[in-house]
Amino acid sequence: MTQTRRGFLKSSVLATGAAIMISDPYKTLAESIPSNFRSGKMHLRFYPYTLELKHTFTLAASSRTTTPIVLTEIEYNGIVGYGEASMPPYLGESHASVHAFLSKVDLGKYDNPFNLEQILNDIDDIEFGNYAAKASIDIALHDLIGKLMGQPWYKIWGYDEQKTPYTSFTIGIDKPDIIKLKTEEAAEYHVLKVKLGRETDKEIIQTIRSVTSKPITCDVNQGWTSKETALEMLHWLKEHNIVMVEQPMPKERIDDLSWLTERSPIPIIGDEGVQRLQDVKKAVGVYHGINIKLMKCTGMREAHKMLMLARSLGLKVMLGCMTETSCAISAASHLSPMVDWADLDGALLIKNDIFNGTKIIDGKIKLMEKPGIGAVKL
Ligand code: MG
Repeated sequence: MTQTRRGFLKSSVLATGAAIMISDPYKTLAESIPSNFRSGKMHLRFYPYTLELKHTFTLAASSRTTTPIVLTEIEYNGIVGYGEASMPPYLGESHASVHAFLSKVDLGKYDNPFNLEQILNDIDDIEFGNYAAKASIDIALHDLIGKLMGQPWYKIWGYDEQKTPYTSFTIGIDKPDIIKLKTEEAAEYHVLKVKLGRETDKEIIQTIRSVTSKPITCDVNQGWTSKETALEMLHWLKEHNIVMVEQPMPKERIDDLSWLTERSPIPIIGDEGVQRLQDVKKAVGVYHGINIKLMKCTGMREAHKMLMLARSLGLKVMLGCMTETSCAISAASHLSPMVDWADLDGALLIKNDIFNGTKIIDGKIKLMEKPGIGAVKL
């Protein structure tokens, strides 16, 4: 990219970023609520749980069979909002860290849950990081507010539930016979997501292509180290009907990623390199789009802002998840009518879901017409 174009993008990004921050969907929410909903005390409860995965989950740098999560409940005037923190080990949070963080949260000092901006800003300021722990409060508050308003969040945000996309279904790195089996098991899904980033990349794609021709998205999880080899691979992937690639190279290699994005025949999406709202404008020129996940960005409030900002900057948007119950998946799904790609298969990959919520029907995301996040505890 030339210096002039970089300069232009930088100034237009700053201008658009500033404009977006002024229009805040939550700003007048508290004032619009009937006064009888504006008094009381919020009570936070939380407890650990461990998700059991159906298959061993292998990424470029790790393997595992369980995911620790923490479930939250915020009770207010007899109504309970549900939330969840999911902590895949490589992100550094754990049962212990989430317990320690949530123990510092005092919701008793707020009169009502509608002052979401203030409450969540205060919680964000308690300590750096702890994104999943923060998301567990954010999701429970959104669930509570939606229940008090009697509306699901996709309606509060004004999104059309008919426009939900297909979700991709993830096939982890594995031996060819297991990959074939997993691909056959995924017959219901219209888009597959394949984990790459090892020497076996071409073999994995060829194995899947021997079984199906459906669209595939790839996630390299920062696994490629040479930009020239990465570009050759992207051309090869395009020939095999791969529709986009997530995080092909390490997130610190900004210049290499920009070089690749300028030349790639298919969209490149930043995941590890784009965590929170402040990272969105930095993604312009480095990636074609961003992957928004509630557990990276502290929840629904910030995810929604990231979506709005990314759209205004011309970035593509993917909506992703960790392995999660249908609680956090339902929460994320309310944004799905607005995204280019959804990867909300987290609850499909576990054996012990304890919520009934957003469903995947014939591969398509189906939002529940229930107030809040639309997840019911089993
Ligand atoms: Mg990813």
